[in-house]
Amino acid sequence: MELILLGPPGAGKGTQSKLLETRYGVAQISTGDMLRAEVKAGTPIGLEAKNIMDAGKLVSDDILIRMIGERIKHPDCAKGFILDGFPRTVPQAEALDKLLHEQAVDLDAVIELKVDEAILVERISGRFSCAKCGAGYHDKFKQPKVQGVCDVCGGTVFTRRPDDKAETVHARLEAYNAQTAPILPYYKAHGRLFTVDGMAEMDQVEAEIEAILRGLGVEAA
Ligand code: AMP
Repeated sequence: MELILLGPPGAGKGTQSKLLETRYGVAQISTGDMLRAEVKAGTPIGLEAKNIMDAGKLVSDDILIRMIGERIKHPDCAKGFILDGFPRTVPQAEALDKLLHEQAVDLDAVIELKVDEAILVERISGRFSCAKCGAGYHDKFKQPKVQGVCDVCGGTVFTRRPDDKAETVHARLEAYNAQTAPILPYYKAHGRLFTVDGMAEMDQVEAEIEAILRGLGVEAA
């Protein structure tokens, strides 16, 4: 299965792609996570990307296309992959088509998660995660069961993404509207675009995505 989850920051792409990764036995590829790992490791890509990410802007197409070109050749992608955060521009979408064509792989679907902007800001600005295992929490929607202790691993240190600050969230939404939303008509023209209400409950969103995939003949592992 080759699937793209599209949608603004905070739409639930990360949450849903992790759920689908387990159910379908394919690799979840988050370009945001890949870039954060480069920043943490202090690589040349990380050094170039850090300030751009902190400002809520998009890292260059060249870097992203090269990263994805290498990533989808890894053995864990043999049964397919879910792209979370890529493509984010029309040139990235065109480059992805070329990469998939070279590997004789067909994209099954592009699923857009649609969420109102006011809800996105609230969702993103309250996010935090366990520094040890990465489990995600939210100030308003999902506090750890015991205050200050991670439900999953017992860790007691939590972090917030530097780009989840309210000022940066607006820049990220602007980047989405100006540079990423134009991908939607691109995929619509190719007959691959499906839209799901990302404001529904998490389980409901997952069920809708699975129904779309079932309709395309893609079954869970
Ligand atoms: P995300 O975790 O998907 O919200 O991505 C965090 C940040 O990484 C974005 O705000 C961008 O700065 C950068 N980024 C992630 N994916 C891409 C991409 N496909 N193209 C350009 N920049 C990206």
